[in-house]
Amino acid sequence: PSLIDRTTLFSILSLLLLPIFITVLVWFMFLEPISHMFKQISDMEKTGEADSLKIRSYIWEFQVFTQTFNNLVSKIKSYQHKLESDSQTDGLTGINNRRFFEDSYDSAWRFSARNNLPISIIMIDIDFFKKYNDFYGHQEGDEALKSVAKILQVHTRRANDILARYGGEEFILLHQPDTYDHLTETLEGILDSINSAQIPHEKSGVSDHITVSAGACLVEDPGAWMKDNKDLAIKIADQALYKAKDTGRNRYYISRLNPNSSA
Ligand code: GH3
Ligand code: MG
Ligand code: MG
Repeated sequence: PSLIDRTTLFSILSLLLLPIFITVLVWFMFLEPISHMFKQISDMEKTGEADSLKIRSYIWEFQVFTQTFNNLVSKIKSYQHKLESDSQTDGLTGINNRRFFEDSYDSAWRFSARNNLPISIIMIDIDFFKKYNDFYGHQEGDEALKSVAKILQVHTRRANDILARYGGEEFILLHQPDTYDHLTETLEGILDSINSAQIPHEKSGVSDHITVSAGACLVEDPGAWMKDNKDLAIKIADQALYKAKDTGRNRYYISRLNPNSSA
């Protein structure tokens, strides 16, 4: 007679295999998802980036947890996105704000220098806007600012053009014209559109409607010399704007910035 019959052997084997089976089951059902979650959450802590959990589990509670967690992550991401875009957008007009302009100006300037693309900085300022506010009220003034911004947006056509509200009733347009004549066309287009909008301005000293003056700094001969002249271009555009104001408003003035006049 054999010492261990088949039934006993089977029982012993079952007893040995059962804990292994239970361990494997517990590992796959509970420990593996928990360790995966833990790893992902500690990764998030390291990178500071919220990321959705990617675990698959047959346990209902895990599924609910993952879904709730992922909904929270997507809310955080959408708030982050809104915060980012709000901090680059002017609250009144909805166009870019000065901060956005300053953040993008540097790379646009360098891109133009590297690729030999003519570039221009245009400052646009509403004429006699203080009088407009005084006469029509601040709220109407806000509406006028929005209308002007909308018109300027229509003239921000090229992929690399950047329009922003630079402050108060002043706008800035980074425009990449092909030539001097192209820039004059753009400036004339802007002035014409503002004039055609016929936004009444009884107290304007130049017209019966809102007008703008513009000053542009044009770089026709871009290159490495531009490196340290980004701020000078803004200054030149500002001076050009004051020339346009001084010589009667509702007009533009263009100044060139070239290697000889650079810093
Ligand atoms: P100029 O033709 O020389 O540019 O004269 P101006 O009156 O337009 O210029 P000034 O700098 O004297 O006045 C600008 C006015 O713009 C003063 C301020 O009341 C108005 N302004 C600035 N920001 C806002 C705004 O957000 N909303 C409104 N409604 N008005 C604004
Ligand atoms: Mg003004
Ligand atoms: Mg002004």
